[in-house]
Amino acid sequence: MTSGSHNRNDDTVTVELLQRYDRPGPRYTSYPTVPMWSDAVGAEAYREALRNASVRTDEPVALYVHIPFCRSRCFYCGCNTCVTQDMEAPRNYLDLVYRECEEVSRLLGDRRGIGQLHFGGGTPTYIGVEGLTKVLAKLRSHFDLLPRCEMSIEVDPRTAGRRAVMELRQLGFNRVSFGVQDFDPDVQKAIGRFQSTDRVREVLNAAREADYAGINFDLIYGLPQQTPESFAQTLTTTIEMHPDRIALYSFAYLPRLRPNQTSIKEEELPDTQTKFQLFSDAIRELTNAGYRQIGMDHFALPQDELSRAQEDGRLHRNFMGYTVQAAQEMVGIGMSAIGYIDNTFVQNASSLEAYQSAIETEGLAVYRGLKLSRDDVVRRYVISELMCNFAMVYDQLESRLDVNYEDYFASEDERLEPFIEDGLLRRDAEGLKVTPIGRTFVRNIAMAFDAYLKDPSRGGTFSRTI
Ligand code: SF4
Repeated sequence: MTSGSHNRNDDTVTVELLQRYDRPGPRYTSYPTVPMWSDAVGAEAYREALRNASVRTDEPVALYVHIPFCRSRCFYCGCNTCVTQDMEAPRNYLDLVYRECEEVSRLLGDRRGIGQLHFGGGTPTYIGVEGLTKVLAKLRSHFDLLPRCEMSIEVDPRTAGRRAVMELRQLGFNRVSFGVQDFDPDVQKAIGRFQSTDRVREVLNAAREADYAGINFDLIYGLPQQTPESFAQTLTTTIEMHPDRIALYSFAYLPRLRPNQTSIKEEELPDTQTKFQLFSDAIRELTNAGYRQIGMDHFALPQDELSRAQEDGRLHRNFMGYTVQAAQEMVGIGMSAIGYIDNTFVQNASSLEAYQSAIETEGLAVYRGLKLSRDDVVRRYVISELMCNFAMVYDQLESRLDVNYEDYFASEDERLEPFIEDGLLRRDAEGLKVTPIGRTFVRNIAMAFDAYLKDPSRGGTFSRTI
């Protein structure tokens, strides 16, 4: 990595800079990253972690519930989904979810407070408002949803309209995320997902009327048929609609791993240069429109709580995304759900059959995970601070974890030089600070602190950082 021709006083994310830093790398939704987890952690280890965590009765827990069903499969999809029209399947699934809930709450004992609740999928609204009402009642019978609980749900505008959005608010949901991806009809055809601009506007207006906070649009760049012109139009429409938050994901084309992606014609994909262009245009347009860059691929209006939390260095990130809630521990319920409890990552079985059989025989369905070492905990803190708050303060590292940065990270610190030369990172007496332009490359900076990347034999297959 060299500083090349980049002008460090220029705060534009150029295509040249994107090209230079584009390499395979983790997304750091967790550290250590998922490929490092193993089946050494199973149901027994999870039971022990939950029991250990049960003593921290004053600390709220974050809860994730996975609803894996979808009516059809979008061609680009990389999620763990079950495509079905069978209405019995969700009913059977929810019975398993209830059993898992019971077992988890039994092990957590008096630790009942929930500070953050997220429903993801799949399509959570597949089970309808009626199904979600039942799940919430069940959760409420085992846990206390705290008064300031952040309750969020992913909504597919194709299957949930104005009425559903209103009803979900009455159920208690107070954050909502809409899967938009792209407004262009040709792109929508190429990804097998049709939803009109009017429909998106309808659900957005309903969410505003119902007084949701943190209304989010998911967009994807790098999709088939996307051009700089067509994507500029999608960005213009998005900016005009003015959602509070935008998550802008890079499309990873992996047809051998995800057979549904073979429906995408490779020749319709933008080439690498164009993909960089789409990303750099999006950063420019969204920031010019007043959005703040939260993490490398998330944007929020200045008045949104995520922007304010980032300014104050209080932003957190977990598998549900960015949050202002400080729940350190997280329980995942349902097929493929991920949790973090008592310094242990756990993941449930990722197929419906395996999930069902594990819940029926053991009451829990964890099939892999990782118990963090002391070194993992230290590095996780540094990486999380950089990814969320774009800064790492030496004194805080010392006071929280009793670690002296200079002593502990002497060799990592040397690896930061190219980022400093390229104007992506600043280092002073207080600590490290990612510059505005460096935000786009924060994954690359975090990689300097990842101990597992030093050992290629333990490496996983990662998507590219840009
Ligand atoms: S709705 Fe979401 S989870 Fe379902 S197939 Fe489409 S992209 Fe995948």
